[in-house]
Amino acid sequence: MARFRLALIAHDKKKDAMVEWAARHEAALGRCDIWATGTTGGRILERCPGLRITRVKSGPLGGDQQIGALIAEEKIDGLVFFVDPLSPHPHDVDVKALTRLALVYDIPMACNPSTADLVVAGYAAQR
Ligand code: PGA
Repeated sequence: MARFRLALIAHDKKKDAMVEWAARHEAALGRCDIWATGTTGGRILERCPGLRITRVKSGPLGGDQQIGALIAEEKIDGLVFFVDPLSPHPHDVDVKALTRLALVYDIPMACNPSTADLVVAGYAAQR
């Protein structure tokens, strides 16, 4: 079975939660091909240096759009995007475009840790 191709993104105030989540699921993530926006990927790698993560640009500099393009090219199977609903973001339109493409291509999209747990559990059950 092909490796699951997973994209990981977290807004600044959600990065600690993303690092904790990734550490909790390190074994499962080790069996995935992971893409991440720049800072999110860097933070995860500090905690889980054994993971193989392809990092694109930082979100506000186009990273969300790069992940969106990968989804449109059908190169991503799932998106974990920990969104901060309580802060304004300069790249709000990019966030909207990215989540829209995840809906268009019907890929699993988890926007908080509890949903992301279910996505990983569903992936693990298929393996
Ligand atoms: P970052 O981008 O991981 O580079 O911080 C995430 C975002 O804010 O979209």
